[in-house]
Parts: sequence; C-alpha cells; structure tokens
Amino acid sequence: MEQILHAQAHIWNHCYSYISSMCLKCAIELGIPDTIHSHGGPMTLNQLVEAIPVRLGKAHCLYRVMRVLVYSGFFELQINKRGGAHEEEAAYSLNNISKLLIRDNPLSVEPYLRVMLNPIPMKSMDCLSAWFQNDDLCTVGTAHGMNPWDLVARNPMFGCLFNGAMASDSRLVARVLMDRCKWVFEGLKSLVDVGGGTGEMGKAIADALPHMEYTVLDLPHVVAGLQGTGNLKYVGGDMFNEKIPPADAILLKWILHDWTDEESVKILKKCKEAIPRKEEGGKLIIIEMVIDNPTEEDEKIKETQLLADVAMMNIMGLERNREEWAKLFTDAGFSGYKISPILGLRSVIEVYP
Ligand code: SAH
Repeated sequence: MEQILHAQAHIWNHCYSYISSMCLKCAIELGIPDTIHSHGGPMTLNQLVEAIPVRLGKAHCLYRVMRVLVYSGFFELQINKRGGAHEEEAAYSLNNISKLLIRDNPLSVEPYLRVMLNPIPMKSMDCLSAWFQNDDLCTVGTAHGMNPWDLVARNPMFGCLFNGAMASDSRLVARVLMDRCKWVFEGLKSLVDVGGGTGEMGKAIADALPHMEYTVLDLPHVVAGLQGTGNLKYVGGDMFNEKIPPADAILLKWILHDWTDEESVKILKKCKEAIPRKEEGGKLIIIEMVIDNPTEEDEKIKETQLLADVAMMNIMGLERNREEWAKLFTDAGFSGYKISPILGLRSVIEVYP
C-alpha cells in the first residue's frame, strides 16, 4: 500500500509542478520582486497587496501563491513577533534568487522567464504528443503553423520579447565570462559573433576588450537599425547562405542547439572557412549545454538540462552530450575541442580547426 501511495504522490507532484512555474510567472507579472526591492526591506502581505494591482478581496489568495514561492526558494519569509505571542506578522523579503528577477538588475533573468512561460511556447509544448504523430518539424509548427524563426519575424511582440530574453541572458553570460574566463579571448584581434542577436554580448565584450574587433552577424531584420560603436559593428546576413566575415575566432552562443546535426555541421563548416589555422590561433568559441557532463555535481543542473532539451523540440533543436558534440566537430572537419564547464548550466567549448 505504501508503494501505491508513494507512486500516487509522485504522479501528483508532476501533475502540479507547472503550478509552481505559473506562481512564479504571476509574481513577475504582478511586479512582486520589483515592489519588495523598491520598498527597501521586508514587506508584509498587507503592504504588498496595497502596493501591487491585486483586488483586496483576493489578498488571502496571494498569501497562498507566496507560500508556494517561499517553499520553492524564491522569497524569504520572516515572522516578526510584535507585542504578544499571538500577534505574528509575516514579511517577505528578496533572496539571491529573487534579486535576479528584479527588472532593473542588469543581470535580470526576468525577460527569459517571460518568454519561456509565454503562451506561444507553452501551447507548443502542449502539442508534443500530436507532433510525435504528424510530419511537422517542430511543435511550434504544430501549434502555430509556421517555423520558429518566421514566427519570431511575423509576430513583432513575441520577437521583441524573444530578442530581449536572449539579450538579458547574454548580459549575464558576458559578465561571467569577463569575470572568470577572459583567457578564452586571449590573443584574439577579431571575433565574429554568429547569430549574435541584438549584440548585448557584443557590447559587453567589445567594451571590456577594446583591442578586439567585434562583429555581430544576425538576420537582417534582427540587426536592422542597430548602430555599431568603436570596435563593435553589426552585419545583417544569413549564416547558411552567405560568407561569414573572416576573423581570428567565431563565437556561437546558443546557436547550434537550435539546429539539427546536419544543419549544425553546415554552420560549423561555414565558420571554419572564416577562421585561420589552429597554429595561427583560429578557433570557435561555443557556449552551450553539455548534457551529462561528469563534472556537474548538482542534480538540479542535470534535470534542468534534460527539460531544456525537450523544450528545444519546440523549435527542432536539441541539447547535446559530450559524444554528440564531438561527432559534430569531427564531421565538420575540426581537429579537436576543449570543454570548460564554467558557466553553470552551460559550458564554454573551444573548437580548433
Ligand atoms: N547568440 C545570441 C542569440 C541566440 S538566439 C544569444 O545567445 O543571446 C539565435 C539567434 O540566431 C537569433 O538571434 C536569430 O535571429 C539568429 N539566427 C537564426 N537564423 C539565422 C541565420 N540563418 N543567420 C544568422 N542568424 C540567424
């Protein structure tokens, strides 16, 4: 009997686990992290309800949402005993995780969360089993009737959210790269950031390394109207069909996981044509997940990687393990690679011609 109850509890946990994501989304949409931040200290439920757009009659429901978020580690709950032992008043404060959800934080993950929990990807994931049974290339195709990059181009609101999410991630990664692994860029006089989006990574790295020429290459509609400065410039183009500008190194951050092995080999070969030989310092710098990396001790990281991999079915992409990466590099004619698992969920992979 114990086993049956345990099994039921496990299944129920998975039935409800999306509620946890929805509570977080709700807190972001109500501006709770920003409100506590501007308040400058812990806020009681009443203070919170007064400061955010919540109907007074629903305050007790907000308490229940906050209880989930405290349980899942997003906020700290302080019980202040005021006066007698019965007059307890709970107050919520930010911790290191919710600080990363404040909009003004330059490293904020809030734009990423808004995209991942947007109805467009959620509806796509909801079509997973239908997609397994049809000929569509990805679940976005099944749910929305077009390929992901067309969807981003044709839906400016979502496109804006998507590019904003990528930009926010790039700011965070650039900060960590400059703090922990500047050595990756040592000796490079020029670099092309292929699929570099709106150039957020570019701005941070070009500023930190003023002697390096930094080129952001992305689809023309993504870089339209963007102005380069100093050692940073934008080029509109298609990485599949046009020549990649020559440079000492090519950066591919979060590109190859968008594409099948066949398409990724095509991209890698194009990049190889743009860089010098290994002896002359030529290399690719890839920032991606490496699933099952033995150095990853944190089980949560592994779970997140496995979930992220399935999420990539939305757009025909996948997260790869070490062997799958190695095969891509060999198939594209590269001689070697080095994986440095220094970016939390992701790694820096240097690939040599
Ligand atoms: N490297 C950025 C963006 C990653 S999202 C970052 O990590 O923040 C993938 C990027 O690839 C998008 O900006 C998208 O516009 C770009 N992209 C998609 N197809 C492309 C193509 N054919 N040529 C050039 N860029 C492309």
